[in-house]
Amino acid sequence: MLLPRFEYQEPKELQEAVELMDAWGQRAALLAGGTDLLVNLKKGGLKVARVVYLGRLEGLAGLESRADGLRLGPLVTAAQLAGSTAALGPAAVLAEAAGRLGSPLIRNRATLGGNLITARPAADLSPPLLALGASVVLTSRQGERTVALDGFFKGPGQTERRPEEILTSILVPGPGQGCGAAYEKLGARRTLEISMVSAAAYLKLDGDGTIRQARLIMGAVGPTPLRAVQAEDLLAGERPKDQDDPIFCSASLAAANEARPIDDHRGSAEYRRAMVEVLIRRVLGRAWLRAQGRQS
Ligand SMILES: Cc1cc2nc3c(=O)[nH]c(=O)nc-3n(C[C@H](O)[C@H](O)[C@H](O)COP(=O)(O)OP(=O)(O)OC[C@H]3O[C@@H](n4cnc5c(N)ncnc54)[C@H](O)[C@@H]3O)c2cc1C
Repeated sequence: MLLPRFEYQEPKELQEAVELMDAWGQRAALLAGGTDLLVNLKKGGLKVARVVYLGRLEGLAGLESRADGLRLGPLVTAAQLAGSTAALGPAAVLAEAAGRLGSPLIRNRATLGGNLITARPAADLSPPLLALGASVVLTSRQGERTVALDGFFKGPGQTERRPEEILTSILVPGPGQGCGAAYEKLGARRTLEISMVSAAAYLKLDGDGTIRQARLIMGAVGPTPLRAVQAEDLLAGERPKDQDDPIFCSASLAAANEARPIDDHRGSAEYRRAMVEVLIRRVLGRAWLRAQGRQS
């Protein structure tokens, strides 16, 4: 399969990229690692007159620790995330998820920004970021706007991003003391597998072990990654005694009831719903241990 013809631009300054996107909007596509975009262009699923490469722009890569949390550049690759457990600190769940994305070859190219904008329901990096309460910064000629990731995804391949906007930062709030998060993915194979079901959990505990806040995200069981809000409500105010506490079982069952899985070639809706329960129970147990500093 050959790529179709398009004009190719490599801006060196963000302002230049912003102006190109302002002029071309929907007729141009931004290129990061290319693992989704080039496949779509080759298959003819996407037709554009221009491709604007982001890889020469300064300031879109890297990971920066700030007083209020982390700032991640959209060009950070899955391989870089997977190898940054220590630098990510309490957000190390991102490294856990990035390490499960594709294969080493794909992880070396696939970027965090591309993974979010592609907006696949089964993408690996959106559930942990949603669980951590992250937001994204979108830049256009009109300036910057910050959008909470919760509400950013509108459907498969659809987000709040306008065609001329460039994703320029991903902001992860500092989780603080007493927090833990975990991610699990289920596929038919261990590697090079898009999730059949995925789950991320974030727990914030008070000093006496009471759950002050819970965020539970289910991937690949709806048109976007879904929050299991009823399960979260069940957990708030509870004080689990161990990682197998019955409250974790009740919350997992509630989450499975909130999932909206479909039947497809990867698995049946019934199997997926059953696996949501298993995966949510596992991530809750691990997030709880981590919140207590009892598991790395
Ligand atoms: C063999 C294979 C296996 C895969 N396995 C997995 C997997 O296990 N899990 C998973 O989640 N994904 C998987 N993917 C999908 C893909 O690798 C990821 O979604 C990847 O993170 C996309 O990033 P990219 O840099 O390659 O994006 P690109 O292909 O460069 O871009 C993807 C989309 O995002 C837009 N975009 C990119 N950066 C920006 C930006 N900064 N601002 C605005 N728009 C932007 C592009 O215009 C395009 O529409 C797989 C892909 C392949 C080919």
